[in-house]
Amino acid sequence: MDYNPSLKSKSLRKAVRMFAEAEIGPIAHDIDRDAVFPWDVVVKMKSLNFFGLQAPKTFGGAEMDSLSYAIVIEEISRVSAALGLCLTVHNSLAVYPILRYGTDEQKKRFLPDMVKGEKIGTLCMTETSVGSDAAGVETHAGQEAGAYVLNGTKIFITNGLVCGTALVFATTDYQNPRKGSVLFIVERDTPGFIVGEKEDLCGMRANPIATIFLENCHVPEKNMIGHPGDGIRLCLKTMDAGRIGLAALATGIAQAAFEASLRYAKDRKQFQKPLSSFQTIQNYLADMATDIDAGRLLLYRACEALDSGRPFAGEAAMAKLYCSAMAMRIADKAVQIHGGYGYSKEYDVERYFRDAKATEILEGTSEIQRIVISRAVLSQRA
Ligand SMILES: Cc1cc2nc3c(=O)[nH]c(=O)nc-3n(C[C@H](O)[C@H](O)[C@H](O)COP(=O)(O)OP(=O)(O)OC[C@H]3O[C@@H](n4cnc5c(N)ncnc54)[C@H](O)[C@@H]3O)c2cc1C
Repeated sequence: MDYNPSLKSKSLRKAVRMFAEAEIGPIAHDIDRDAVFPWDVVVKMKSLNFFGLQAPKTFGGAEMDSLSYAIVIEEISRVSAALGLCLTVHNSLAVYPILRYGTDEQKKRFLPDMVKGEKIGTLCMTETSVGSDAAGVETHAGQEAGAYVLNGTKIFITNGLVCGTALVFATTDYQNPRKGSVLFIVERDTPGFIVGEKEDLCGMRANPIATIFLENCHVPEKNMIGHPGDGIRLCLKTMDAGRIGLAALATGIAQAAFEASLRYAKDRKQFQKPLSSFQTIQNYLADMATDIDAGRLLLYRACEALDSGRPFAGEAAMAKLYCSAMAMRIADKAVQIHGGYGYSKEYDVERYFRDAKATEILEGTSEIQRIVISRAVLSQRA
């Protein structure tokens, strides 16, 4: 693998960084404080094709490879992780599974509006009693003539309040939910698809994460992705690819926390000297820079594995595990370097700290990543 970023990657990073700093930078602090989804910026992101990052040009997408995709998510998340989360969930967990596993008819029907960002996507898996063990899904899909009737409650749904098209995971079989697992494409205006209140979470506050209620929600049979029994496999495969976006998001947060620390350490004086002149602070900064580079290399390796068509689940889980823990370490050190100011809501490092924690939980916790990695490791010949 070539670790030297190409000119194309450098120009892409520069362009996205300029956009994010100019358009999101001035409001990033306030949208987190007020827990507001910034529609004005989202409209601009639509016009830049950010809602169709990897979709083929035939559907209006930007047809990016995974490395370019990771760079976009990293740069948006460097300024606002909540918006990075909006984009990665939409692109990786909603557009990707339709593209990869949907029928031609489903692609034609759903993708154009999603790629334009007219319909923001999400994936509804988590329930009050069903988290890491997704195969225990309780949302029921009862069969009727030509349709399925969904009943259940999905919680912590990213983009929930603003979603236009949701992928909903359910089961036809209470006794054996894995065997009966199914995945549907559900339009927001379907009767019985009820969007609840925005959830009051510690971080990612500008993302309208919400509860979704499915109450006798009739979904046509032709909206099923795959066949009955395929649901869990399709969701887990989708998560494998999604972890690349999450690792990129975590890397973006870490990069922002590192840059803030660098600036602060050079500006802030104690004992008549800048903090950056103290060996301990220099060691912190050295460790942070090394940690970010290590995570980024794991991320880019996973991108390369995915694009080359090789099995990439282990690499993607390693990148997600490492980058999310790395983002937590960097955000923690950033708060420490800022002293009392780092603990104040006036400074961005406090937000980075809250946002970084989410990356260790969503799209499979760190404990679950270790299970995925150990499977990949144990499947190798000794
Ligand atoms: C910001 C945010 C956004 C989210 N967005 C979405 C979304 O868009 N769609 C969606 O469906 N869900 C979403 N989620 C939910 C998220 O995917 C779940 O929170 C996550 O999968 C963990 O499930 P849980 O919270 O039920 O924890 P649990 O599964 O109850 O786990 C609790 C703890 O036990 C550990 N644990 C569980 N099983 C094992 C095991 N076998 N071995 C070792 N440890 C174990 C876990 O790692 C964790 O530490 C989001 C969550 C957050 C915080």
